[in-house]
Amino acid sequence: MSKERILVTGAGGFIGHHLVKRLKRHGFWVRGVDIKTPEYEPSDADEFQILDLRLWSSCLSATSKVDKIYNLAADMGGIGYITAAHASISHNNTLINTHMLQSARVRDVERFLFSSSACVYAQNKQKDANIAPLREEDAYPADPEKGYGWEKLWAEQLCQYYREDYGLDTRIVRFHNVYGPLGTYEGGKEKAPAAISRKVALLDDGDEIEIWGDGQQTRSFIYVDDCVEGLVRLMASDYVDPLNLGTEELISIDGLVDLVSKVAGKTLIKRHDLSKPQGVRGRNSDNTRLRQVLGWEPSTSLQHGLTITYNWIQSELGKPGRVPTKLAYGAYS
Ligand code: NAD
Repeated sequence: MSKERILVTGAGGFIGHHLVKRLKRHGFWVRGVDIKTPEYEPSDADEFQILDLRLWSSCLSATSKVDKIYNLAADMGGIGYITAAHASISHNNTLINTHMLQSARVRDVERFLFSSSACVYAQNKQKDANIAPLREEDAYPADPEKGYGWEKLWAEQLCQYYREDYGLDTRIVRFHNVYGPLGTYEGGKEKAPAAISRKVALLDDGDEIEIWGDGQQTRSFIYVDDCVEGLVRLMASDYVDPLNLGTEELISIDGLVDLVSKVAGKTLIKRHDLSKPQGVRGRNSDNTRLRQVLGWEPSTSLQHGLTITYNWIQSELGKPGRVPTKLAYGAYS
């Protein structure tokens, strides 16, 4: 077991980097692959290859002599990013996933886990902020997020076809808003918890904070340690259909801002920018199947996870060489 050879694609990214750390702690041999190395600390992987997985030759090289694959590489970001680049995201991720599945098959890999997203869920079931939690079957009839969601849903189908036609043993996880330290918090690809933490950290008590949308849109968020634990458990299970990996702790974006402000000990004035994308109105995970299949569910409270995340982002922003606080707020708002 401890000699198993694992490939993690997207190992230079947020979840992939945490997953590599977890797998190394548990004694596996790990190859990380990405187009970039991790931004905030070196990878623990035994081998780290810089490869562009849109290319067939790269996928063939990445999958050489491995037993199991966590395929996390993807062109993705927060709502601003995924709604602004439908064609390039679809193009890039289609190539990555198609070539990764085919090379896993050619290499006779034992198991292949695909990281899907809550963006596959039908948009017409997410029109209410008080949303009924989404069950796995709510992805059909298909009406996913344009671009990114369609591509993820199609790649889920592809996993199923490779399992049925070629016997490739696939697993499919649907993440719901993963957050935590060592994730992107600026530059346009960051997601709500990181973006809000950055804004709050850069503001003074009593300042105004810009919020995308009217703040009443709702989501649930999963802390990265829970996410990684769920991933490892799903890989070890015999469950082949798509599975939610999120929490059922629903909160509005205004509520998220209040929580981060509380962690920071600041009182801020909210300014809502209705011209900015806010995604679906409400989205929550139904973890009934997760509990049944894995006998486990995420346990980190949002307040606890956000405290760790906020403190990490605040310390990053305070590092020498960064722009002074007030200047930075202007630049990032
Ligand atoms: P991330 O952007 O931090 O990591 C993805 C990594 O893939 C990046 O390091 C990126 O450089 C790499 N990548 C992109 N194109 C590549 C290419 N052509 N070749 C090789 N590597 C390439 O994102 P993350 O949050 O760690 O997400 C990991 C996976 O989970 C992705 O598949 C993502 O779609 C999925 N997901 C994440 C969330 C979330 O909340 N973070 C939610 C739903 C789904």
